[in-house]
Amino acid sequence: MAEALQIALIKGDGIGVDVSDAAIAIVDAALARCGLPAFVYDEISAGAAYFRETGQDIEPGGEDRAGRADAMFLGAIGLPSVRYPDGTEISPHLRLRDRFGLYAGLRPIKAYPNGPQRLSDPRSGQIDMVILRESTEGLFYSAATHGRSQIIGDAEVRDTLRITRRTTEKLHDFGFRLARKRKSRGMAGRLTCVDKANVFASMAFFRKIFDEVSGAYPDITADYNYVDAQALDLVRRPWEFDVLVTENMFGDILSDLAGGLVGGMGMAACGEIGDDTGLFQPAHGSAPDIMGQDKANPLAAILSGSLMLDYLAEKRAAPAYADAAALIEDAVLRGFREGRLEPLEFGGTMGTRAMAAEVLALLADKSHVPVGVG
Ligand code: ATP
Repeated sequence: MAEALQIALIKGDGIGVDVSDAAIAIVDAALARCGLPAFVYDEISAGAAYFRETGQDIEPGGEDRAGRADAMFLGAIGLPSVRYPDGTEISPHLRLRDRFGLYAGLRPIKAYPNGPQRLSDPRSGQIDMVILRESTEGLFYSAATHGRSQIIGDAEVRDTLRITRRTTEKLHDFGFRLARKRKSRGMAGRLTCVDKANVFASMAFFRKIFDEVSGAYPDITADYNYVDAQALDLVRRPWEFDVLVTENMFGDILSDLAGGLVGGMGMAACGEIGDDTGLFQPAHGSAPDIMGQDKANPLAAILSGSLMLDYLAEKRAAPAYADAAALIEDAVLRGFREGRLEPLEFGGTMGTRAMAAEVLALLADKSHVPVGVG
């Protein structure tokens, strides 16, 4: 049997705790079904509630431990009532992202049968794309948490958009490899560079590097869209896109827009991957308005767990982890198709625990083996 992998687990605040518990239970069940050893979880205290108790946003040594694990899983962090003295949010997450260079932000956007569909065109049932958001530079380079905004008295403030060759080459390469992987799983094999190359030198540079990298991937269709046109197209014809690669701020906005097309925050899975490690978390926050009420939809966290398994398959060159990921995705797909998953978030009757129990039941059904799982 393969060695057990180590996962740094930060459940965080609010619904982060409930959805992490749900995701971990399902990841563990998928590992067991594939005959893989259970993960060893290193639980790390962090977040706004921890800050309120201790004055620190993560436990001492927590960042180092997180970096030593094979991957990190995070629930959600932040409570509106707990802030730093300057009013900014408690955010060890952004520090982890910077420290470990987690440049490749993955946001899969997929329509599920009987799931929420916001567009009346029936083709919106075919939406299945990934937005790849650069996550360490771009306009977030000078975000308030980094203290790099240039504040000129009370007269002017400047924020800088930074694009480096080093990160952008890796980002585009990641995008092409992702499109190739999806092509091997039956998708179109297309990567669209979303930029504003007609206006900004930084964006022309972003596109120039895209063109350079594309030469190594003749099997993948490479094309472009300006970000404003992309916003329009995400509403007009979202079913036509496969993988979109874009700058940090553009990706921040477009991924929420695209996520809205197929549901709410409870469906928004997310992975942030760097050269050495990856962090997986639902894209939603701690949702204090519904915390402690068993109302949160755990699917974003569960699908983030599936992304983590897929990542570990590549990192460890161990395809069985990709099988475990496919089992989870298939369980969610079947659950929607068969009308067995009806989250409260979309007007159904199932809270966090009921949803997790149903996904576990779907996973346990050994009469069903998804295509491609060996
Ligand atoms: P942050 O800035 O940390 O993202 P936020 O308050 O802006 O926090 P969320 O915490 O994601 O955003 O919550 C936004 C809305 O979406 C809230 O009304 C919340 O209840 C709802 N929401 C978020 N996640 C879920 C979920 N998993 N299931 C159901 N509803 C959710």
